[in-house]
Amino acid sequence: MKILIVEDEPKTGDYLKQGLVEAGFVVDLLRDGRDGLHHGLTDAYDLAILDVMLPGIDGWAILQGIRKAGKDTPVLFLTARDHVDDRVKGLELGADDYLVKPFAFSELLARVRTLLRRGVKATTPEFLRTADLELDLVRRRVARAGRRIDLTAKEFALLELLLRRQGEVLPRSLIASQVWDMNFDSDTNVIEVAMRRLRVKLGDNFEPKLIRTVRGMGYVLENPDCA
Ligand code: CA
Repeated sequence: MKILIVEDEPKTGDYLKQGLVEAGFVVDLLRDGRDGLHHGLTDAYDLAILDVMLPGIDGWAILQGIRKAGKDTPVLFLTARDHVDDRVKGLELGADDYLVKPFAFSELLARVRTLLRRGVKATTPEFLRTADLELDLVRRRVARAGRRIDLTAKEFALLELLLRRQGEVLPRSLIASQVWDMNFDSDTNVIEVAMRRLRVKLGDNFEPKLIRTVRGMGYVLENPDCA
């Protein structure tokens, strides 16, 4: 799940980004309104978090630009305390929710999950399944053969990506950009390490395996019963 944050105050922006990355999201943080709108229009986000007062153009103009382009990306506004008019205006312009600064991160995360769940319900099922593996997107739980498996946020994101695109060989570069938001660098073995841990947790070290390594190409998740 990819989130756009447009916030010019460095402390708030960094705090938000770090928290959301730790919660397993891929995050783009921009400080300037125009850059924010550009990314909002050209990139695919599951959610946008917008500050109101920004250099370049303000948060309202970003929201209007995104909606004018026909995008229904959920938008959460960050508004200053006592600016009640801001909230009304935001909702009128098509924002989905707002949060008054300062806020607790846990509160923001709860709002983010609620908004994403709405989007997920409209477009995709709440569960991803293959063979005896089940991933619950709403409760963020994984089970295999009915046994609960505890995954880190990154492992969950990795498994979600593999499941959403089952049967497709996913190159390491794609996994790196979708799960870690980084360009693939051959010096790093972060994907291999995470994949190994994920397989151990899934009990996927023995045949028939769900996740296969395709030498020189990447990884694929397939239902062994159908292969
Ligand atoms: Ca601001």
